[in-house]
Amino acid sequence: MSKASELWRALTAGDRRALAKAITQLESSLAEDREAARELLSYLGNPVSRSFRIGVTGVPGAGKSTLIDALGCQAIAAGRRVAVLAIDPSSRQSGGSVLGDKTRMTRLSSELSAFVRPSPTLGVLGGTAGRTREVIALCEAAGYDTVFVETVGVGQSEEHVASMVDCVLLVLLAGAGDELSSMKRGVLEVADLIVINKADGGREQLAQSEAASLRASLSISRGAFVPLVLATSAEDPRAMAGLWSALVSYQATAEQDGSFVVRRTHQRLAWFEAAFEAGLRAALERPDLARLRAAAALRAENGSSLPWEAAEQLVAELLRESAR
Ligand code: GDP
Repeated sequence: MSKASELWRALTAGDRRALAKAITQLESSLAEDREAARELLSYLGNPVSRSFRIGVTGVPGAGKSTLIDALGCQAIAAGRRVAVLAIDPSSRQSGGSVLGDKTRMTRLSSELSAFVRPSPTLGVLGGTAGRTREVIALCEAAGYDTVFVETVGVGQSEEHVASMVDCVLLVLLAGAGDELSSMKRGVLEVADLIVINKADGGREQLAQSEAASLRASLSISRGAFVPLVLATSAEDPRAMAGLWSALVSYQATAEQDGSFVVRRTHQRLAWFEAAFEAGLRAALERPDLARLRAAAALRAENGSSLPWEAAEQLVAELLRESAR
């Protein structure tokens, strides 16, 4: 039996360390790990089990980790198994991490039915080249039927996360009216459920009225589907139970009206596109093709070709190479 098939057996039998190891292999750039990861992925097939993928986005400090900790515990109490992953758009460029190195989700981490992937380190699951979709699929194969994908709401990252989950939960801060007005409309457009968080310590009324005005403005901008807007506080267990049941009814409604299946179809297409682009990039690293590319880049740089011309020539050269 190959090492990958042994790992697969352990992983599907519920061994958390096997899952962690499989994810590490997936994210590794070592050739032997990549080969093992490829074999692992070949066992995936189409998922048979039902799962719910929830993206959680919002500015740093909005309370995402705390919410996931509380929601994850609610999910486990309802008999679910919970995995938590993170996409950190900052880690790749800065080497730092917006999602932080804080001890994350202490309650959830101690649950046997939870798998919490530690804070992303350099490049891990970062940016669009990350392998989050593959990691989600591995978690599901390991029996986790509820997968939270946490990301910081900066520009593109929420659209990226929206293409890999069934529901996007946007976490806003009570009393941060400025945040809302300066926020890209895009974030509001991809949200399926919105919370005005930290509605406690005297901010309850404010959060409620912010929720009401957001509902009103969304009913104009979003038309047919207006996401639910709730005021929440991680300090209030009833609010957390209410949020969890809102997520459960979101999933149930989406399954009933067929939008769940449609969205999964879009997720598969987005996965294909991402894998195709990653494959193309990898193929272009072949030394002869990389040389053609470097030569074209040089022509653009030194002005001997116009940049668009150099790019067009390169594409033609690559197609000629592939036809040989
Ligand atoms: P993240 O960066 O979005 O993941 O935010 P965290 O979950 O790390 O929370 C940031 C800070 O806000 C922490 O100090 C939390 O204890 C605090 N916090 C989180 N949720 C709430 C809440 O509902 N109410 C209050 N008052 N504080 C909260």
